[in-house]
Amino acid sequence: MDQENVTPKSMFRLDGKTAIITGGGSGIGAAIVRLFHQVGARVIIVDRDIESGKNIAEELYPQDPSSYFYAADVSQPEEVQRLSESILNEHREIHVLVNNAGIGHVGTILETEASDLDRLYEVNVRGVFNMTKAFIPGMLKRKSGCIIQLASIGGVVGIIDRLAYCTSKFAVVGMTKCMALDHAKDGVRINCICPGRVETPFVSARLQEYPDPEKAYREMSSSQAMGRMGKPEEIAAAALYLASDAASYITGHAHITDGGWSAGHIVS
Ligand code: NAD
Repeated sequence: MDQENVTPKSMFRLDGKTAIITGGGSGIGAAIVRLFHQVGARVIIVDRDIESGKNIAEELYPQDPSSYFYAADVSQPEEVQRLSESILNEHREIHVLVNNAGIGHVGTILETEASDLDRLYEVNVRGVFNMTKAFIPGMLKRKSGCIIQLASIGGVVGIIDRLAYCTSKFAVVGMTKCMALDHAKDGVRINCICPGRVETPFVSARLQEYPDPEKAYREMSSSQAMGRMGKPEEIAAAALYLASDAASYITGHAHITDGGWSAGHIVS
């Protein structure tokens, strides 16, 4: 950080930076896209869902949306290879990579097939691996960059009924710490965020599986330490902090944003 020219206000600006956000078409990713754009970053959305990715690119860059949305499945190495060639050809330098794309799965070991575990691993773990492998070389060359993974509180503590999901997210936290140490001296900071329950389409889809989704929503909210779920914007704020100069001495950190979930039991 250039201490002399940094003010509390400028510390959280991303002017002149180009950021990629995977899964940027929905939920937490879309909130990060909007916030980073608001604080001056040029934002590139990567999502396998073409409609949602295109919509947000049209909202932020009505003159040239196709330069800011790239359709790709981050779990597929060949697709990520093609994607990185197109992005680097058009945008040259990537300063911030947010590996947000992820999927969920509900079940105990008895209710989880090996194919479920593989699918979660492919998207949640290999997705982070593929994207980081494609974009970290440019950061290392410039000796500057920042990578942020969306892990989960389920990557720090176990969650009942979430065997495959927690397994994949523990791997994301572990991978983050290893990559951070490997490159701590190279000017590239690598951290992850561990949210608790956040109100996004990811959680709404789960609620629809209950016989009474509204009742399930109320129960899910009241079972949180704060009596409510988090909002995507509250997680985006954590991403901005980690991407900003305010976090210049932070790497290898699993940043918990769970409204108190992991602090302890909320029933006495
Ligand atoms: P979401 O379902 O609303 O959005 C995820 C986005 O990722 C979607 O746009 C989807 O199309 C995209 N995506 C999924 N797989 C992809 C792939 N293989 N390639 C490219 N894009 C892909 O989810 P969300 O709730 O915003 O979650 C975002 C991240 O935060 C995930 O990694 C999730 O595990 C993590 N997280 C969410 C919560 C929560 O309660 N919502 C809690 C903890 C962690």
